Amino acid sequence: MLTKIEIETIFTETGVMREGHFKLKSGKHSPVYFNAKAIQQYPMKLNLFIDSWLEILKQKVDINKIDRIVGPAEGGIALAYSLAERISEARGRECLMAYTSKDKDTGIMQLRKNFDLPNDENIVVVEDVVTTGGSVQQTIDSLHEKNANIMAVCLMVDRSGGTVGFGTELISLYTTEAITYESDECPLCNKNIPLTAMSNNAKK
Ligand SMILES: [Zn+2]
Repeated sequence: MLTKIEIETIFTETGVMREGHFKLKSGKHSPVYFNAKAIQQYPMKLNLFIDSWLEILKQKVDINKIDRIVGPAEGGIALAYSLAERISEARGRECLMAYTSKDKDTGIMQLRKNFDLPNDENIVVVEDVVTTGGSVQQTIDSLHEKNANIMAVCLMVDRSGGTVGFGTELISLYTTEAITYESDECPLCNKNIPLTAMSNNAKK
């Protein structure tokens, strides 16, 4: 099981979590910037999170009953695949995976038509980071259209400070609260600390 300190070390090493003075897409300022997708560049480190999820899942649900792991694009895809692979290996029987992506017209996360989901599957949903939980909730709604039973939601980072809930078992490996300031009330600006430059990659 990863400890909080170990997680923070991984996040710093991989560029998932940066400290500085950031201008966010919303226009607000923050001393911390999360680029959760950066973890996908590091399969071995990503697998440490998968190990932790698996360990907790084994305590909370019967992993033999899990039919499929589903994550929202893009952050949830590598995580869903890796967790499905690990569960398949652990029990010697395929655990399937799928992902949701934004519908071009509605902008809502929908199951990809590539995946032919039967009704009544037992599903675990995974995501790299949530703030309001919108993508995860839309993924769950999309799965409910297939009468899926959501056994658990696994999060790498819960930035809601622990306030999100999805009406099922919630496994969050790192819980924190997003700190943001209006640009005219920012204590970092008041100290004349320059904005931290972000690479194109980190901005995404
Ligand atoms: Zn500022």
